[in-house]
Amino acid sequence: MSQFQTFAMVDWSGGNDTGPTRRKDAIWACIVRNGKVLDPEYLRNRLVAEQWLDALIHAELMAGRRLLLGFDFPFGYPCGFARAMTGTDDPLALWDWFDQHIEDSPKANNRFDLAGRINLQFGGRGPFWMNGLRRDIDGLPRTKSDYSNPFPNRRAVETLAKGSFTCWQMAGAGAVGGQVMMGLPVLNRLRHRFAGQISVWPFETLDKPVAFVEIWPSLTLGAPPEGRIKDEWQVEQVALTLSGLTEQELDAQLNVSAAEEGWILGVPQDKPNIAPPPLRNDCFALPAGVNWTPVDEALAYLRDRLHPITASETMALTKACGRVLAGDVVARRSNPPLPNTAVDGYGFAGPAPDGPQIMPLIDGRAAAGIPFEGDVPEGRALRVLTGAALPAGVDTVILEEDVTVKDGHIAFHGPLKKGANTRRAGEDVAAGDIALSAGRRLTPADLALLSAVGIAEVNVRKPLRVAVVSTGDELVEAGERAGPGQIFDANRPMLLSLIERMGFVPVDMGRVSDDRDALRDRLDQSAERADVVLTSGGASAGDEDHVSALLRQAGAMQHWRIALKPGRPLALGLWSGVPVFGLPGNPVAAMVCTLIFARPALGLMSGEGWVEPQGFEVPAAFEKRKKPGRREYLRARMRDGRAEVFHSEGSGRISGLSWAEGLVEIEDGARHVKPGDMVRFLPYGSFGV
Ligand code: AMP
Ligand code: MG
Repeated sequence: MSQFQTFAMVDWSGGNDTGPTRRKDAIWACIVRNGKVLDPEYLRNRLVAEQWLDALIHAELMAGRRLLLGFDFPFGYPCGFARAMTGTDDPLALWDWFDQHIEDSPKANNRFDLAGRINLQFGGRGPFWMNGLRRDIDGLPRTKSDYSNPFPNRRAVETLAKGSFTCWQMAGAGAVGGQVMMGLPVLNRLRHRFAGQISVWPFETLDKPVAFVEIWPSLTLGAPPEGRIKDEWQVEQVALTLSGLTEQELDAQLNVSAAEEGWILGVPQDKPNIAPPPLRNDCFALPAGVNWTPVDEALAYLRDRLHPITASETMALTKACGRVLAGDVVARRSNPPLPNTAVDGYGFAGPAPDGPQIMPLIDGRAAAGIPFEGDVPEGRALRVLTGAALPAGVDTVILEEDVTVKDGHIAFHGPLKKGANTRRAGEDVAAGDIALSAGRRLTPADLALLSAVGIAEVNVRKPLRVAVVSTGDELVEAGERAGPGQIFDANRPMLLSLIERMGFVPVDMGRVSDDRDALRDRLDQSAERADVVLTSGGASAGDEDHVSALLRQAGAMQHWRIALKPGRPLALGLWSGVPVFGLPGNPVAAMVCTLIFARPALGLMSGEGWVEPQGFEVPAAFEKRKKPGRREYLRARMRDGRAEVFHSEGSGRISGLSWAEGLVEIEDGARHVKPGDMVRFLPYGSFGV
């Protein structure tokens, strides 16, 4: 729908008439029509500008041309403001509101007074700040020192557009607050005058002949060439750039969702489903000539070479527990949003000096969600209930248990510090802060945090799909009839549930016999259906070790001879670009290798970063002698504050895996552990399982 023939860009101004001579910091506009640029227009005040816009829209409509009309000021305010002012989240209702309340003429306007008046509704210290006039304005702070904003400081788009100003700042070089207030009423009048002909981006579908869009020329443009006025040059450049885009390119830029706050055209929005780059073919290469790679080195290789391989998507926060954040999440609102009381009691202006205090109570009370509208005069107190916003004049609260109430007065013993029993706005999290960082796997507590700061949707990674294949002629499914020499497949149920507990999506690819063609087919299918494949068995270098043989043929395979016990070589490779972890067949070794190697590697590929298991130094309840050369993991559990190990280290003893509640890690060198010596215990839970 973005077939526009005419592009007109406007650089707005919030100030008064700028005189007859072309100059900077005035309103400038430039039209590119059917690819032809017209001379930029100098518009000395908003009255002139409105007439010019009116004539332009009229002319384009008459000529049957579609017009993209850009303005360099925000079309919306940070979330929550529209609702606070109008009772709805619809930014166009806010346009109507400003249209009704702004008084404008070429010589004077009421923007600072209106900002002060709005501020007084919210306690008089924000959201607007900076008074550009000489006279004081009630409620409008001159500086930021006493500023307190009940709304987010920035719109979401402004956190992405470096150097942008907030629409709360009413004066000062570059400030945009005045332009918004003085611009929205003009756009609103045009919108109503040409009702049915204009859509406002991104709030409305662009199915009308004229589209209003928000632009910010400084996003991409630097200083103008010698001799040109910055504003007039910028509007010309933006009009030329936008008119030069293909329909698809412009559509892509217009395709954003920012229903309440609006967006700046050209700022890329965090888009779901951006495919991450593939892994490199040599990602599992180990240095040549090394016989046994120490565990830490092997881990460092994986950490270096792997990267996230899942795309992202946007979803409702309530559905996102267990998902991994694809980007940082910025708090939309402070927690708490307003200064409030932490207890039930009585609020007044603190501090209270030492000794007995008596204060008259004023009528009314403040409760959570039901603010007290008036002022509390100095020396008087008001009943306040936990969570209530502090009314104007209150900064300190005395606990009700410490007070006697009689005849409309309260009595208590001082001293009480200013601010006692209150919570500062944003003392927990301030709007604009990063509430949680990319890579975080969301927990129930995270859902509480993000909800509290106004986040309803999150951009998360798609879950990592992990295929599990068991290999071996000897395997049958538990429950089936097992002939002589056959054993039940123990690894697959274990690996599938480990994957699930770790927060990935298990994909059961069944069992496959020691047959190269069958295994090749199964790897093909697994690579189609999953992001990563775990196989067990057949990973050594023997005749029947088809996993290694196939991966070697595929050309991107490495045998990792890692110096650890239990664990035979791991075969790591890429199959059709999909990483394959060829685990040992022995269930004890398969589980240890999964926890120690696959777990952090999968975490990295899922987007959650490299997560190390949290171990604890605990006294040993056992004795063990160990030679140098490889790291050992013993099946262990904690009893009476000490780590016990399973009575047998036999690698076929699956019962020991089940008996254990974690692993004891004994370092690579020689060691003689005696009862009471400290050893490192890694609970299964520390691997997320
Ligand atoms: P492999 O690595 O294929 O030589 O297997 C090593 C040992 O683990 C052999 O004793 C296999 O029978 C056993 N094994 C292999 N896969 C499994 C499995 N899925 N469940 C239980 N044992 C297995
Ligand atoms: Mg085998």
